[in-house]
Amino acid sequence: MKLMTTVQTVERLRQTFGEQLHVNEALARYTTARVGGSAELFLTVTTSEELLTAVEMAYSAGVSYFVLGGGSNIIIADSGITGLVVLNRARRVNFRHSGAGVVCTAESGANLSALARQCISKGLGGLEWAIGVPGTVGGAVVGNAGAHGADIDGQLLAATVWEPGRGVFVYNREDMKYGYRDSVLKHDALAGRPRRVVLAAELQLKPEAVDVLSARAEGFNAHRKDRQPGGASTGSMFKNPENYYAGYLIDTAGLKGLRIGDALISEKHANFFINAGEATAEDIRALIAEAWNSVREQFGIEMELEVELVGDWAFE
Ligand SMILES: Cc1cc2nc3c(=O)[nH]c(=O)nc-3n(C[C@H](O)[C@H](O)[C@H](O)COP(=O)(O)OP(=O)(O)OC[C@H]3O[C@@H](n4cnc5c(N)ncnc54)[C@H](O)[C@@H]3O)c2cc1C
Repeated sequence: MKLMTTVQTVERLRQTFGEQLHVNEALARYTTARVGGSAELFLTVTTSEELLTAVEMAYSAGVSYFVLGGGSNIIIADSGITGLVVLNRARRVNFRHSGAGVVCTAESGANLSALARQCISKGLGGLEWAIGVPGTVGGAVVGNAGAHGADIDGQLLAATVWEPGRGVFVYNREDMKYGYRDSVLKHDALAGRPRRVVLAAELQLKPEAVDVLSARAEGFNAHRKDRQPGGASTGSMFKNPENYYAGYLIDTAGLKGLRIGDALISEKHANFFINAGEATAEDIRALIAEAWNSVREQFGIEMELEVELVGDWAFE
């Protein structure tokens, strides 16, 4: 077992969280790609207060931390993640009237598609696009998740965000600096900064007839079923480059069906990379490299990953 974190930190976390804290927890089952190694320390939180306590404790002890939502937009390295992984299951949700609409406040561990379903059943419109998007509200707020021409940017009123070493702040839409699958928070790790953490989000909803909302959501689901493969994956691997679909480029490069180990590029949708059994994170990374290089060679386009590679990768 690798244990880089000090014994004192482990003890403090154990005093606070008791049996919720695990050492050397295998992470693959918490991700939709079903790959990756273990977390040095692993904690499941069920409230935003616990989430805040956990990341504050880790940060002040100098221990690296990573918030895991639905694990649907990440590939975790085979060698795992050093430090603390916090599995976010803080799921409280409430609704309040505000002017002509309704505001939903959701803790960041709430499941996005379950929330979309709940809104539809209450006759509240605005999240139907999210009916088939896996993961948590927190993951969606960070990545500006979207589908069918809509996204979180269109619904977010405010997000409660913890800034390491500074405290808790309320960000409005403008503060999030949203772009296509992009936000200011997505750049923390890339820039080598400790990651900010979304504790909760306020989403704007609009009353609409339940049957209209249900029909819209069913249409979106049917569209998804028609175009996207099943199986273990992270959804779209690459962002769509300007004026192109990543899936079209990978397909045209002749890579549909390409297999490395148990990882394969879907025959149904070339931007979906499937774990067909016992794939490793390294198998998927090799497929990513193959697709990126082939598209660059054939079209001169350098695709950008939509998915985040996290943990202790050998090339780092
Ligand atoms: C089959 C399939 C279909 C998909 N379809 C779509 C789609 O249509 N549209 C779309 O946009 N995406 C889609 N995705 C990708 C994925 O569902 C979204 O990116 C989703 O929003 C990720 O949320 P998550 O909770 O799983 O995040 P995770 O994968 O757990 O984490 C992603 C990143 O967000 C960070 N993060 C998570 N929670 C927090 C938090 N509370 N505070 C700070 N950082 C946090 C993590 O640390 C990590 O850096 C699809 C994925 C799959 C598997």
